[in-house]
Amino acid sequence: MIDLHTHSYFSDGSESPARVVELAKRAGLSAIALTDHDRLDGLEEASKKATELGITLVAGCELSCVWKFSSKEKEVSCHMLIYFVDMGIEPLSSELLRLQNDRDTRNERLIGKLNELGFEISIEEVSLMAKGQGIGRPHFAQALVNHGYVQSVQDAFDQILGSTGKAYIPKARLTPEDAINLANASGGVAVVAHPLFLVDNVKDLVEPLRELRSFGLVGLESYYGRYTKSERQALVSLARDLDLVPTGGSDYHGSYKPDLNVGTGLGDLKVPDQVLEELVSRRAST
Ligand code: AMP
Ligand code: FE
Ligand code: FE
Ligand code: ZN
Repeated sequence: MIDLHTHSYFSDGSESPARVVELAKRAGLSAIALTDHDRLDGLEEASKKATELGITLVAGCELSCVWKFSSKEKEVSCHMLIYFVDMGIEPLSSELLRLQNDRDTRNERLIGKLNELGFEISIEEVSLMAKGQGIGRPHFAQALVNHGYVQSVQDAFDQILGSTGKAYIPKARLTPEDAINLANASGGVAVVAHPLFLVDNVKDLVEPLRELRSFGLVGLESYYGRYTKSERQALVSLARDLDLVPTGGSDYHGSYKPDLNVGTGLGDLKVPDQVLEELVSRRAST
């Protein structure tokens, strides 16, 4: 069993990279990928711990993309997982730096907007919560909860921080084609994360994924923590039809998504070891 989607406090998870690897070991996994948003800084610590515990670490990250479906007018937000990368690898590293800088600017504007709306939250407390790294909207959401402005992180997104919220401020996003090219040019592979956040029906993914496949997409996250058994099966079968590797993971974020566990997700997740072997072999051939 493996888990190819986790976050540490280098982005919007609550735990250290070493702790995430420890949890993977404890869950009996043979391999774990750390996939922090826009950054690779947690990989060194994770890799050290993985060596110590005798578990395979897959180096990764997760990039936010904006995707204009060819068949639809609307733009959707699409997350792309990139595997087999490392700090210092170009062109990925420079691009991540650009995205991190944009995120910092977005965060300052977001604090300004929240203050303007009467939510008295400071960048210092949000930064403290994020342990100074990769500050993201989940940290702002938690601050809004701590102050009693909303009941839950979900309410904070629905009412304030999400795309329909009153303080929504987007950050720079790549297109999926850019992200795929970036992954391939950096010696990695690209996989579409949690695809059912994009569409309601699996069949609506066919044409868009065919297009991304032609750009060099390698995988589709099919075994996902929050999906039902039948959704997972439908995604695995779609991935196979399109010659994509059906990958999977929990999307562990520690206390920010407390119902999701490393390896087992909501309790019933089981990602087969074989999909990692398939990813490795695709990497060699891209
Ligand atoms: P950011 O990268 O700072 O824009 O924050 C994006 C992160 O916020 C995602 O990776 C999720 O963890 C979380 N997120 C985004 N939208 C929602 C939502 N509607 N409900 C709950 N969490 C969300
Ligand atoms: Fe996240
Ligand atoms: Fe994601
Ligand atoms: Zn994620």
